[in-house]
Amino acid sequence: MDKIVVKFGGSNLKTLADIKRSAKVVKAYNQHIIVVVSAFYGITNTISEAIGEAILFPEEAGKIMQRIRSIHFETADACAAGADEKKSLLEIIDVRLKELERLLKGIHYIGAVPDFTRDKILSYGERLAAPVVAALLRSEGIAAREMLPENIGLITDGKYGNATADLAASAPLLKASLTFQETAVVPGFYGTAKDGRCAIFGRGGSDYTAAVIARCTGASSFDLWKDVDGFLSSDPRVVPESKTIPFLSYAEAAELAYFGAKVLHPRTVEPLEDAGIPIRVMNVEKFNGTIEPYTEVAQDRGITEAKDAVIKSVASSEDLGILQIEGPGVGSRPGILAWAAGRLDAAAVNISSVITAQTCINLIFKKDDLAKALAVLKADVVGGVIAVEAVEDCSMIAAVGSGIRDSIGAGASMLQALADEHINVVLAQAGASPVAMYVLVKNRDRENAVRAIHSMTREDSWEK
Ligand code: ASP
Ligand code: MG
Repeated sequence: MDKIVVKFGGSNLKTLADIKRSAKVVKAYNQHIIVVVSAFYGITNTISEAIGEAILFPEEAGKIMQRIRSIHFETADACAAGADEKKSLLEIIDVRLKELERLLKGIHYIGAVPDFTRDKILSYGERLAAPVVAALLRSEGIAAREMLPENIGLITDGKYGNATADLAASAPLLKASLTFQETAVVPGFYGTAKDGRCAIFGRGGSDYTAAVIARCTGASSFDLWKDVDGFLSSDPRVVPESKTIPFLSYAEAAELAYFGAKVLHPRTVEPLEDAGIPIRVMNVEKFNGTIEPYTEVAQDRGITEAKDAVIKSVASSEDLGILQIEGPGVGSRPGILAWAAGRLDAAAVNISSVITAQTCINLIFKKDDLAKALAVLKADVVGGVIAVEAVEDCSMIAAVGSGIRDSIGAGASMLQALADEHINVVLAQAGASPVAMYVLVKNRDRENAVRAIHSMTREDSWEK
């Protein structure tokens, strides 16, 4: 028997019709599987809004809770079959909503949101979705049961907001609880810290939950259901002729996700790669009763000469900025990078990338972190630095494909394509990853740059 872990995201759980279609998908597997679910569409954002209001404006938080309550009650009512099922499902939902309300009251009274409390509160989107999906599956005649991460041993390092699973500690426990003898429905997005508190895996983290469970249970496949045709050669809103890529290596998929392709959470491949568990990306919108992957992500199959130096796919993200740390010898003077990294780390500002030269160190940040990073470094300039300046409104565009680093010509063709379109490259980086290189351009040039680089993709690199 194949052991399959399936994940449905918020976009598969948007309307009642979507939720019911996801149940049909589970039925089509025709065997017991593990189903990991995200919160219903938009609910994590709504809970996050409630946290924002709860401290100062508890009535506003109360109104948001009313919305969350009615969405879940209505959906639960439509999903459970039979009076007993309905009654017990509505009771579970009610208990969890009350817990969530108490937590929001708690942060109002203490006037702060401790990190472990924030994680717990944010996890309620998944805690409210999972019992509804389990009841729906039962109404389809599937022996399905909700299994909570805290009861099945999904243990993490306890880094609130961005936890990592402890695979060694979790594996024996998850394996013992998730036996594939019944269909388990697991809420994604969180696990427990060593002390039993709830710790989330970062936004979009249900993909990672599913990957961890696949790894720890020795699954043969991780099936990620989306509402798009798998990984595409680019964003179809920018490049209408973008095509599905049938096969990607783990590294290619991870880089595409990191550089902005929204198909999966960038950390999803971590637990799967060394166990060689494939990710199959499916499209629920096109579900016709068969389990047909659009993209399969697995171990690199090696590049052939004909496919050397090929760009398979182009991803981009807007809303980046650069901090330029200038000084005549910043590149060779010891300690400058350590100073900048140390100050930023202490201020909890994440650096996305670093590119240095002799007279300038360039640090790349998410747009929202740029002003804070600038203020932190300007407040305490180290000797040797004469200026710290911010360049706003930048986009990062990455070309991804196995062999990019180790073969001739990919960088040249990318830069030539940009030059032909008269696009100025603000920064360029190649060689940091064997399968990716990227440029920064001003936001106004992003779409043209993506199209120019996409014209260099080679369909023969997409073969399975
Ligand atoms: N519900 C969480 C979020 O929206 C986790 C997930 O969707 O994967 O970030
Ligand atoms: Mg989500």
